[in-house]
Amino acid sequence: MDYQGFFKESLARLRDEGNYRVFADLERHLGEFPKATFRKDGAERDVTIWCSNDYLGMGQHPDVLAAMHSALDRSGAGAGGTRNISGTTHDHVELEAELADLHGKEAALLFTSGYVSNWATLGTLGAKIPGLVILSDALNHASMIEGIRHSRARCMVWKHNDLADLEAKLAELPQDTPKLIAFESVYSMDGDIAPIEEICDLADKYNAMTYIDEVHAVGMYGPRGGGVAEREGLMQRIDIIEGTLGKAFGVVGGYITGSAELIDFVRSFASGFIFTTALPPHVAAGAVASIRHLKQSDAERQGQQDRVAQLRARLDEIGIGHIPNPSHIIPVMVGDPVKCKYISDRLMADHGIYIQPINYPTVPKGTERLRITPSPVHTAEDMDRLVGALKSLWGECKLARQPIAAQ
Ligand SMILES: *Cc1c(COP(=O)(O)O)cnc(C)c1O
Repeated sequence: MDYQGFFKESLARLRDEGNYRVFADLERHLGEFPKATFRKDGAERDVTIWCSNDYLGMGQHPDVLAAMHSALDRSGAGAGGTRNISGTTHDHVELEAELADLHGKEAALLFTSGYVSNWATLGTLGAKIPGLVILSDALNHASMIEGIRHSRARCMVWKHNDLADLEAKLAELPQDTPKLIAFESVYSMDGDIAPIEEICDLADKYNAMTYIDEVHAVGMYGPRGGGVAEREGLMQRIDIIEGTLGKAFGVVGGYITGSAELIDFVRSFASGFIFTTALPPHVAAGAVASIRHLKQSDAERQGQQDRVAQLRARLDEIGIGHIPNPSHIIPVMVGDPVKCKYISDRLMADHGIYIQPINYPTVPKGTERLRITPSPVHTAEDMDRLVGALKSLWGECKLARQPIAAQ
C-alpha cells in the first residue's frame, strides 16, 4: 500500500468538500483578552477573538494565575504519575472536593479533559452494568457518542429535546431493564437548552439513571455557577453531572460528580481514568481558584449576559438573522459553506476579527454559521467594530436580511 498517497488523497477529498480545517495561529494577550496576535505566512496582526469558549475571561483572572504560579513554585511542573501511582497531589484532592460541593454531590472525579470524562464514564457504565440501555439525545457531543459506542451497550437515540420520543423509547423497554438517559443542558451549536425537569420526571417514571453534560453551562448559570441544573434547582435529581474546567473556568480538565458509590465505581473501573498521568498540580490549583471565585461572584455571569443581549439587539437592528435561544451562544446563520468560510476569512483579514466558520460535519449542511460568544471582556468598541464588519460583509455577500423589527 502507498501509505503517504492514501493520506494525501483523503486530505484532498476533504479539501474538495470544503471541510478541511485550518487552525488560526494565535497568541492570546494576558490582561487584554480577547485580544491576540494572529500569525500567517510570516505576517502578524492584532485580532479580537469572538469565538472563544473561555466565556468569562477566567483564563486571565488574577486569582487563577496567582494560584497556578504558587502551585508551580511549590510543587513543580507535572503530577509525576497516574492518580493511583504517586500522581494524586493535594491540589487534586482539593479540586474534587470543590467540584462535589459545586454540584451538591457526595463526590467528584477528575479527568484530563471533558472529552475523556464523557468517554470514560459512559464507556465504563455501559460496559459494566449488565444489560444497560443508554438513551442518548440525537445531538449529544462526539465524546458521549464515542463512549457509548465503545461500551458496546445497547443505545437508543431519541430525537433532540423531544420528550415524547424519549418516553416512547423508555416505554418500549421492560421496567426492570437498567436504563441511562444521557443528554446535555446547553447544546453548543444551536444554544438551546434541554427540558431537564421533564427528563428527570421520565427517568423517575421508568426508573432510569440520568447523565447530564453541563460543559457549556458550568460557571455560567446558577447562583454559584453550578450550571442550568443548579439554576433550576434540579441538581439533586440528576445522578451524574459532567463538566469541563476548560471553558468558562478557563483552565483545562474534565470531571463527573455523583454519589460516593458511583464515583468510586468509575474511579475503580474506568480505563480512561486509571491508566493516564494526572493533570499537573498547578492546573488543578488554577481550577480550584476559578471555581471558588465564580461560586461567590456573579459579576462575570452578569457581564456576559449583558453583552449577549446587546449583541443580539444590535444584530436585530441591522437585520442579521441568528437563532433565538435562551443561552449565551449566538449562532449567526450563513447557510452556505463557501460564504461562511469567506466571511470568516474577510473578518480576519480586513477587520482583525476572529470568528471560526462552523461548517459540516459539525453542523448539518445548509446550516453553516458563525458561532459568536460574547464575553464580559469584550468592550463596547469591540462590539461596534464587529457589527460594522458584519453589516458590510452581509451586503457584499448579498446574504438575506431579516425584516427589521419595529422599535
Ligand atoms: C467541549 C465539549 C466537551 C469536551 O470538553 P473538553 O474539556 O474540551 O474536552 C464535552 N461536551 C461538550 C458538549 C463540549 O462542547
